[in-house]
Amino acid sequence: MDFTLSEEQKMLQESAREFALKEMLPTIREYEEERRVNHALTKKLGELGMLGIHLPERYGGSGYDYMSAVLVWEQLSYVSWTQTLTALGHGVLAGTVLNLGANESQKQKYLPPLCSGESIIAVGAVEPAAGSDAAAIETSARVDGDQWVINGSKNFITSGGLADTCLVLCQTDKNLGWRGIALIAVDTDTPGFSSHPISMVGDLAGDLSNLGFLDCRVPRENLIGEVGRGLHISLHGIDTARLFISAGALGITQSCLDASIEFARERSQFGKPIGSYQMIQDSIASLAAELMAIRWQVYYAAYLKSRDLPHAKELSAAKILASDLAVKASEEAIRIHGAHGCTDDYPPARHYRDSILMTILGGTREMHKLTIGRELLGLNARS
Ligand SMILES: Cc1cc2nc3c(=O)[nH]c(=O)nc-3n(C[C@H](O)[C@H](O)[C@H](O)COP(=O)(O)OP(=O)(O)OC[C@H]3O[C@@H](n4cnc5c(N)ncnc54)[C@H](O)[C@@H]3O)c2cc1C
Repeated sequence: MDFTLSEEQKMLQESAREFALKEMLPTIREYEEERRVNHALTKKLGELGMLGIHLPERYGGSGYDYMSAVLVWEQLSYVSWTQTLTALGHGVLAGTVLNLGANESQKQKYLPPLCSGESIIAVGAVEPAAGSDAAAIETSARVDGDQWVINGSKNFITSGGLADTCLVLCQTDKNLGWRGIALIAVDTDTPGFSSHPISMVGDLAGDLSNLGFLDCRVPRENLIGEVGRGLHISLHGIDTARLFISAGALGITQSCLDASIEFARERSQFGKPIGSYQMIQDSIASLAAELMAIRWQVYYAAYLKSRDLPHAKELSAAKILASDLAVKASEEAIRIHGAHGCTDDYPPARHYRDSILMTILGGTREMHKLTIGRELLGLNARS
């Protein structure tokens, strides 16, 4: 295994870093304070080829492998994960789902505008009574002539209030369990569709919405893939999203570490820089040591996934470790910054708000432990 970065990967990493520092950093505070999404930024990410970074070039993507995508996501999240989450729900989650599940004409229709950022696509899987247990969804789809009629609701949908189209996980026949589940594209101007923004602890410059479907009628050809494949297609998208989330967690941790080092050098108390005290050095050294180790775990998961090798337990381990580390790093960084760290004048407060979300979307810690347990023991706790 060789993790030496190619010249192309180094350039990609550098251009993502430059974009994050020049375009995201100067505006993030304003958008967070006003709780607005920076649409211009999403478009720019599209122009740079980052929205469809892992998607095939023939559909407008950039065709990079997962390792390259991880490098980019680390850099973007270094500055702001809330800005990056909009791109994640759209480009990574919806893009992956469509690339795997859609037929050729659906790919031609949806993927190029998704990659360019001209249209926003959300994925609605989770519901009030079906979170980690995605197979328990109750949103129903029944056939009426040449249309699907959809009724139900979805919770916590990234960009649900901005999207032009939502890929909705529906149950077509509850007697069939997961075999009845279908993924159906619903344009958000369809009568009966509604969205309601929700306020969270973080993601302040993003959009998370609850969605309602009341007798929403869409053409039968809006079925993505086949009935019975909807859950599989969605889980494949979530698998990819969790790799990007893990990469984002590395970016947050690196940012907290860099900010802490800079602050600890500059801030003096008792006549010396606080960084000269051993307890502060211990905090910084411990974070750096964990980041070094966990970064390789995320890269290893990306390496396996890029080669289409089995990676479930490796990626679950990466997701648990990286997201927990981001939470810990932002807490530690706030402590090192003292009261300054509790303000938005320094990066850790922003990362503190966002990192906790990373431990939940893309699968909770408990779900990932069940995945690792299943792989090691050959026993599925969830069935
Ligand atoms: C920022 C953000 C963005 C999101 N974006 C999207 C999106 O775009 N589309 C979408 O469909 N969803 C989205 N979600 C929803 C997300 O997928 C769910 O929050 C997640 O799957 C967990 O479901 P839940 O929140 O209902 O928690 P629950 O499943 O109710 O779990 C609650 C707690 O119980 C634990 N638990 C559950 N079952 C078990 C078990 N068997 N054993 C042990 N512990 C268990 C969980 O680990 C957790 O700690 C988003 C969530 C967030 C926070």
